[in-house]
Amino acid sequence: MSRPLATREAGAGRRRGPELDVAVVGGGMVGAAAALALARAGFASALIEAREPAPWRSEDEVDLRVVGLAPSSIGLLDDLGVWTAIRQARVGPYAHMHVWDAGSGAGIDFDAAANGQSELGCIVENSLVQSMLWQALDAAGVRRHCPAAVAGFEVREDRVQLALADGATLAARLLIAADGAGSPLRAMAGIGTRGRDYHQRGVVAHVRTERGHANTAWQRFLPTGPLALLPLADGRCSIVWSLPEAQAARVLDLHEAAFCEAVGVASDFRLGRVTATSERAAFPLQLQLAERYDAERFVLLGDAAHAVHPLAGQGVNLGLRDVFELRDTLVAARAGGRDIAAPHVLRRYARRRRSANTLDALGFDALARIYAWQAPPLVAMRGLGVRLLDRLDPLKQLVGGHAAGR
Ligand SMILES: Cc1cc2nc3c(=O)[nH]c(=O)nc-3n(C[C@H](O)[C@H](O)[C@H](O)COP(=O)(O)OP(=O)(O)OC[C@H]3O[C@@H](n4cnc5c(N)ncnc54)[C@H](O)[C@@H]3O)c2cc1C
Repeated sequence: MSRPLATREAGAGRRRGPELDVAVVGGGMVGAAAALALARAGFASALIEAREPAPWRSEDEVDLRVVGLAPSSIGLLDDLGVWTAIRQARVGPYAHMHVWDAGSGAGIDFDAAANGQSELGCIVENSLVQSMLWQALDAAGVRRHCPAAVAGFEVREDRVQLALADGATLAARLLIAADGAGSPLRAMAGIGTRGRDYHQRGVVAHVRTERGHANTAWQRFLPTGPLALLPLADGRCSIVWSLPEAQAARVLDLHEAAFCEAVGVASDFRLGRVTATSERAAFPLQLQLAERYDAERFVLLGDAAHAVHPLAGQGVNLGLRDVFELRDTLVAARAGGRDIAAPHVLRRYARRRRSANTLDALGFDALARIYAWQAPPLVAMRGLGVRLLDRLDPLKQLVGGHAAGR
């Protein structure tokens, strides 16, 4: 379905050039936020998405895919006018985080109040965020093409000419790929990736526990990978359990009572016994970093640019920071009378976000490696480090502030 483009410059003598300023491919949380943010900033925008997202409904079971939104992401969603509706619909705010190590027993706590805040973030369903963003697209004048896929594109002097699989064509000054970790657009642009396959899967489910979650995000590091118990609005916890592929397959196949027991044992019964669970799903885990974020009249955003281990719960937060940076860069270029897709403009966005995301991604990867150590001296060293960090308030505040996106 294609919606008519809201013409920005009707009557005022339309400037020459393509019909669109930006074409965003991929309408997940990051792509939809980008299309909305750029339209709100006055750029003629289109969003091309392969699959129409199902509308979020409060009577439906909580989506198995949830994310922990950091204050920086909440700020962007608020700026886009969708946060109040998301918050009123169904979110699990958390004011504390407790992370502990099965090997050494050492733990670390983060507390919102220590930084003068009321919460560290919110656990939100992916489908809820995406749905609220999509609902805001029409009013912002974003032209939607869904279901639609890009068959190819060609860069011309002042535009990118896009060919959709249904035969339609579009022209934009800038093509933005937010089409996820498997990004077909990234491959079409000839951009390679580096990284590693963790040969792990993130098993997700919602569980009911004997004791309440106390608005705390819990995470226990086990030699096989971390288990997170994230607070949901209805009192249950959403689990993200990273496991080697074969173990993940076994856990997915367990009958309900055995699965509840396995989660209880893996969480060291911190919230008591696990008494009920939902359906389960599993996602492959990888570190994948695009070798560059820009090409001619082309940029990458979100998981298309960087897929990271979920242990820090930062994947979508990095993607939403890309959106901020791109919007601000394009607004500044326009204010300076420059082509928004000029190579130096795109390079500025790419340089800033690639260095920040790479540092974070490698940091999460280092944590995954450190927590995989099993040799007793290394486990003792890790325990010492964690205990030290927990006592060093300024360093802890720095880590907490970084995760919050400050
Ligand atoms: C187990 C697990 C737990 C996680 N937990 C967290 C967490 O707690 N916090 C956090 O911040 N992140 C978390 N993440 C990461 C987070 O889910 C991702 O970073 C985020 O969903 C990426 O959003 P995106 O919009 O970039 O990509 P996607 O959500 O992958 O969206 C890409 C979109 O592009 C569309 N598309 C693909 N190809 C085409 C095409 N050719 N044409 C048109 N459309 C196309 C797809 O249909 C899709 O809608 C987790 C990830 C996993 C696997």
